[in-house]
Amino acid sequence: MRDALFQDSLRRARKIGEAASISQEVIEALMRPQAMLQASIPVRMDDGSTQYFTAFRCRYNSILGPTKGGIRFHPDVTQSEVQALALWMTIKTAVVGLPFGGGKGGIIVDPKSLSPMELERLSRGYIRVMADFIGPDLDIPAPDVYTNAMIMGWMLDEYQFIKRCKAPGVITGKPIELGGSLGRDEATGRGAYLCLKELEKKRELIPNETTVAIQGLGNAGYHVARLLHQDGYKIVAMSDSKGGIYSAQGFDVESIWKEKTAARQLNAVYCDQPIGGCDNIPHKKISNEKLLQLKVDILIPAALEAVITEDNAAKIQAKIICEVANGPILASAEPLLEKNGITIIPDVLANAGGVTVSYFEWVQNRQGYMWTLEEVRSRLEQIMTKAFDEVWGTAEREKQSLRSGAYTLAFRRLEKGINSHGSREFFNGHS
Ligand code: NAD
Repeated sequence: MRDALFQDSLRRARKIGEAASISQEVIEALMRPQAMLQASIPVRMDDGSTQYFTAFRCRYNSILGPTKGGIRFHPDVTQSEVQALALWMTIKTAVVGLPFGGGKGGIIVDPKSLSPMELERLSRGYIRVMADFIGPDLDIPAPDVYTNAMIMGWMLDEYQFIKRCKAPGVITGKPIELGGSLGRDEATGRGAYLCLKELEKKRELIPNETTVAIQGLGNAGYHVARLLHQDGYKIVAMSDSKGGIYSAQGFDVESIWKEKTAARQLNAVYCDQPIGGCDNIPHKKISNEKLLQLKVDILIPAALEAVITEDNAAKIQAKIICEVANGPILASAEPLLEKNGITIIPDVLANAGGVTVSYFEWVQNRQGYMWTLEEVRSRLEQIMTKAFDEVWGTAEREKQSLRSGAYTLAFRRLEKGINSHGSREFFNGHS
C-alpha cells in the first residue's frame, strides 16, 4: 500500500481542489514534488562490515517558504510514502498559516536492530548525503516516526561540522541545550488536544462521559492521551506496534506510560501482573485491528498511515476520528466513514501542532532568544484555535467535510502565493 500512497494522496488533493474551483495551474503545481533526492548511506557496523541504507529527502513545494518536514526511520519507508508525507506537509503548513513549504525524509531501516553507535553513524551519514539539499533557508528536517531529539542533535552536529559554522535553524526538535524549543516534545499531542477541545465546545462533549481509543502510544499519541486524561476523558484503549490493552473503566495514562517506557512495549505492561496505580482495573489485551473497531466516542490513530481502508471502514464504530498520524485513512475509505456520520479531524489540522512549535523553534534560533514554555503554549493555542475555526468555518460555508475545508483553505493560500508571480489571466491580459 505504501507504494501507492502518493497516488492516493494526489487523487484526493485533485478532487478537493477541483471541487473548490482552484485553478488548474495551481492544481498542476501541487501534483509533483519540486525536488527529490535518493541516496545510499554506507555505515560501518559494529562487527566491522559495511551496510548500505537507502535514504530519501523530498522538497515538495516551497512557494510559501523553506520546506519543512520530519525524517522517518522505518523498514517500510518508500519514495511514494515520503512524497505523500511531503505533500501533506505542504498543505498542513498552509492550513495553519506558517511561512513554510512542505518536505519530508526517511531511511529504509529497522532502527531497533541497530546499536546506539550504528544509529549515530547512520544519522550522521544521512546529513553527509543531504547536506547540500537542506539548510535553514532551504529545507528544515525534524523528528518523525522512530527519530527523536538525540538523533536531531547528531544531525545538527554533523551539518555544522560540514558547513564550519553554527546553524541551529537547520533542524528542529533538537535537544533544548542545542537550541531546541521548550514544548516541542509535547507539541503534536497538544495541538491535537486543542482541536478536540474546540470540537468539545461545538459538540457539547462531556469529558468524563467521553471514551477514547488511541492507536500508537508514541510521542504524539502519549501527549494527546495525557492531556485528555487530565481533563477527565476516559482513555479506554491504547496500543503500540506489539499490540494493545483495553479497559472499559479507562486507564491512568501516566502510569501506563511509565510502565511502557520501562518495558519498551505496551503488551508487557498488562500481561499477567497488575501494575502500580492500576491494580484494580479490569483489562484485556486487544489487537491493533480490534482497537480501531471499538465502539468509542473518539478514535485517535497516532501510529502509521493507511490503517483505515475500504476493508475495515464499515466496521469503524467511533463517532469522531482525530488523525494524529499522517494519512491513517485512505481516500477510498473516507466516503464510507462519512456515510456513517463520523466526524474526521484531518491530519493536516490535527497534527499541525508539531510543525507549529518547530516554526517557533526556528524563529527562536534566528532571534537568538529563548521563549518560555508559557509563551510557546499560549502562541500554539492561538494558532491552533484560529486554524480550527477557519477550517470549521470554511467547511460549514461550503458544506464540506473538515478535510475538504482544510484543503480548500490551504489551496487558496497556496494559490495566492503561486499567482503572486503572475497567473495565466495576468499574462494573457498583458500579451
Ligand atoms: P513515535 O515513533 O514516537 O511513535 C510511534 C508509535 O506507533 C510507537 O508507539 C509505535 O510502537 C507505534 N506503532 C508503530 N507501528 C504500529 C502499528 N503497526 N500499529 C500500532 N502502533 C504502531 O512516532 P510519533 O512521532 O509519535 O509519530 C506518530 C505519527 O504521528 C506518525 O504518523 C507521524 O508522522 C505523526 N506525526 C508526528 C509528529 C511529531 O512531531 N512527532 C508531528 C506530526 C505528525
